[in-house]
Amino acid sequence: SSWWSNVEMGPPDAILGVTEAYKKDTNTKKINLGVGAYRDDNGKPFVLPSVLEAEERLRQKNLDHEYAPIAGTAEFCKLSINLALGDGNEQVKNGLNATLQGISGTGSLRIGAAFLEKFFPGNKEVYLPTPSWGNHTPIFKHSGLNVKQYRYYDPKTCGFDFQGALQDIAKIPDKSIILFHACAHNPTGVDPKPEQWKEISAVVKKKNLFPFFDMAYQGFASGDVTRDAFAVREFVKDGHQIVLTQSYAKNMGLYGERAGAFTLIAGSKDEADRALSQLKILVRPMYSNPPIHGARIVTEILSDPALRQKWLKDVKLMADRIITVRSQLRENLKKEGSTRDWSHITDQIGMFCFTGMTPQQSERITKEFSVYLTKDGRISMAGVTSKNVEYLAHAIHQVTK
Ligand code: PMP
Repeated sequence: SSWWSNVEMGPPDAILGVTEAYKKDTNTKKINLGVGAYRDDNGKPFVLPSVLEAEERLRQKNLDHEYAPIAGTAEFCKLSINLALGDGNEQVKNGLNATLQGISGTGSLRIGAAFLEKFFPGNKEVYLPTPSWGNHTPIFKHSGLNVKQYRYYDPKTCGFDFQGALQDIAKIPDKSIILFHACAHNPTGVDPKPEQWKEISAVVKKKNLFPFFDMAYQGFASGDVTRDAFAVREFVKDGHQIVLTQSYAKNMGLYGERAGAFTLIAGSKDEADRALSQLKILVRPMYSNPPIHGARIVTEILSDPALRQKWLKDVKLMADRIITVRSQLRENLKKEGSTRDWSHITDQIGMFCFTGMTPQQSERITKEFSVYLTKDGRISMAGVTSKNVEYLAHAIHQVTK
């Protein structure tokens, strides 16, 4: 017999399974709203003009393919944390940040989780918003941390359950870890308002909770990298020693390049140095050192003022298209005669929209209209274009009226 006869078939990935089913569909009107990657108005993947220019410059430099340092290059790390906290921030100036390149957002989360599992002196439980990105629970559990929840999304309003969140956060045991999506919450598209973030920060402080920020969409939400960093900067300003993960998958369209960063804000420069030494010790046996190409593109873009400006325009272009298509979807639903309140479509932000469609309605829209989405009613706005928005509105109306 084989060594592996004991291995059972695992379930397919919930999101990637949607794309598989979509590919098999022969309906010419089919739409894939499962995938969380930006598409242009023709439904095609988009390589940012600023990224193309960065790659051109890199080619001219004839760089070698030597290993990166375990933590990635110091320049990449500095540019990344400055993008998050803003140029000239006190923390970086005083050397309080321990930053390393991670394997995009996911790998950075995994490293952060591993570090907390080993060194966090408080309650090793992570509280996630309900719902959260589907990979958060497995990432933290895989690292040996316990995962619990706090209320976040209100199905009645398709909006943020501010009171529910505050009540639940107030009940979290002192010195636990609490995870926040910095902006463009996935899967709901629902973010706290700036005033609400301030209140949350105060409660987190009062309860002595440890804030873990996942920032996978900086700039992609509002089109403005500063505005999207509000929550992170506010918490840091309030004196929280946060940890932060960043991803360049969405805001630079570098999905497969796996460029991201993990940062821990320490109490002193010495403490930051010690933390970084331990982070490197965690990385070494896991993957030794991070991939170089994507990080080089990021470095090229963020370090050159002209190219950086060009990138900021590219980010805004992507965010604006998503924002425009949200209003188009809402208008078309009205035109279809839908009497439901669809204001959440335009209130929500970022890649995803939590439509409020039930699992039954989601199933029906796939079966009858070849519109593919996850069963929770989440649609990727990136898959909506000026060409298919009318058909989509028609389909949504038919299954929700
Ligand atoms: N966090 C959240 C909330 C996300 O939506 C994503 C992307 N789906 C990630 C992290 C990480 O993605 P990546 O590993 O591709 O950077």
